[in-house]
Amino acid sequence: MFEKILIANRGEIALRIQRACREMGIKTVVVHSEADADAKYVKLADESVCIGPAPSAQSYLNIPAIISAAEVTDAQAIHPGYGFLSENADFSERVEKCGFVFIGPRAETIRLMGDKVSAKIAMKKAGVPCVPGVEGALPDNPADIIKIARSIGYPVIIKASGGGGGRGMRVVHTEAALLNAVTMTKTEAQAAFNNPMVYMEKFLENPRHIEFQVLADQHGNAVYLGERDCSMQRRHQKIIEEAPAPLLNARLRNKIGERCAEACRKIGYRGAGTFEFLFENDEFFFIEMNTRVQVEHPVTEMITGIDIVQQQIRIAAGEKLAFKQRDIQFKGHAIECRINAEHPYKFTPSPGCITSWHAPGGPGIRVDSHAYNNYFVPPHYDSMIGKIIAYGDTRDQAMARMRTALSEMWVEGIDTNIALHRELLQDAAFVSGGTSIHYLEERLAERTKAK
Ligand code: ADP
Repeated sequence: MFEKILIANRGEIALRIQRACREMGIKTVVVHSEADADAKYVKLADESVCIGPAPSAQSYLNIPAIISAAEVTDAQAIHPGYGFLSENADFSERVEKCGFVFIGPRAETIRLMGDKVSAKIAMKKAGVPCVPGVEGALPDNPADIIKIARSIGYPVIIKASGGGGGRGMRVVHTEAALLNAVTMTKTEAQAAFNNPMVYMEKFLENPRHIEFQVLADQHGNAVYLGERDCSMQRRHQKIIEEAPAPLLNARLRNKIGERCAEACRKIGYRGAGTFEFLFENDEFFFIEMNTRVQVEHPVTEMITGIDIVQQQIRIAAGEKLAFKQRDIQFKGHAIECRINAEHPYKFTPSPGCITSWHAPGGPGIRVDSHAYNNYFVPPHYDSMIGKIIAYGDTRDQAMARMRTALSEMWVEGIDTNIALHRELLQDAAFVSGGTSIHYLEERLAERTKAK
C-alpha cells in the first residue's frame, strides 16, 4: 500500500480523499492555490504545497507544478478527484511517466472514453445498449447526413465527439434545420474542443438520467455497485441524486449492471467508473462514461457499505477486489442534496464569507463539506460547498431524514440553494419518484410565471 498520496484537487473532495487516506494510515499531501491557502482542510493534511495563484489554469490545472509538488514531497500516487485534471489523459500519462501512480484508469482508457464517438463504438461492441444512431462520426456529404437523420427519425441530436459539460449539442426537429445545425455544431466543436467531429443520435424527449457505478481491478475483476438516479438537474448540472433509482425493476438493474461490468472487463478498465444512461420507457441508452469518482458517489456508498475512494486507492496499488458481485448487497435508500453557494432561484453565484455555518446531524445523516464558520468561499471555482446525504431503510425514511436535516442546516453570510432543496423535498412529483431530466427546469419556469 502507498505511504503517501498527493491530492490534486480542492474543496469537499480533497477533504473526502484525505479522510479515506487517514483511515487507511496513508499520509496526505494537499496541493492548493493561493486562494485556498487558509482553508482548514489544507491545514488538516500532513503536508500542503502552494502550486500557484487563484485561477485554476495556473494552479489546479498546472501539470508541471503538481508533478513538482509530488516530487518534493515524495508522494507515490496522485488522486485527481473530479473535475480539473481528473479526465485529462495527458495528465495521467505525465504522472505515470514521472514515476507516480495515477489513481484512475490508464491514459488510453481515458482517451477512449473521452472521445464520445470512440466510446460509443466500444460500448456497443461490449454489449452496452446505446442511443439509436449512426456508428461513428457524421460524413461531410449533405445527402448522406439527410439520409442518416431520416433513418434515425426526428427529433435527432447532433453532438460533438469531444464535447463535455453539456456543451456542443444541438437538437434538430425538422429536415429544414438539419444541415445548418450540423455546420454550426461542427464550428462550435472546433472552437471549444479543438475537434470538429460530430455524430448524430435519436433525441429522447423525456428521459431520466440513471448511471451505474463500477469498480474494476487490474486483475480482470469487475463489479457494479448498482445505480443512481440523477434526473433532478438544471442546465445539465445535477442537484439531487439518489440510490437506488425509484421504480426500477431489479432484473433490469442486474442485467444492465452486469453489462457495464462486462464492458469493463472487455476494455481492461481500471478503477472506479460510471456509465451514464438515459432511461425512457423502461429502456437504458448509454450516453457516456466518466472515468473518475463522481460528486454523487456517497449515495452508493451508503446503500452498499463500500468506500469507493478507498477502493480506488486499493485498485491503484494493485490489490484485487476483495468481494465478488454476489457479496454486494443493496440495502436501504440514500439521497444527496448538493449545497451550492448561489441564489436558490436566480442561481447567481454567491461567494464570500460564511459568517455562520450549522451543519445537520442525527441518524442516517452524512455531511461531506469543507465549509465552517468564517470560511471564505472563493469566487474562482465551482459553487458547490458541500453535500448532505440522508440514508434510511426506505426511500420515505431517507426523505424524512433529509427534510429534518435541511430544516436544521443553517448558513449565513452567503446565499445557498437550501431553500430550493426544502421545496423539492416537499414536491409531490419528486416524492412519488421517477421525474425526468426536464422536471426541475419546467418547475422553475412555472414558478417564474406564477410571480
Ligand atoms: P456531456 O459530456 O456534455 O455532459 P452527455 O452526452 O453526457 O454530454 O449529455 C449531457 C446531457 O445532454 C444529458 O444528460 C441529456 O440531458 C442531454 N442529452 C444527451 N444526449 C441526448 C439524447 N440522445 N437525447 C436526449 N437528451 C440527450
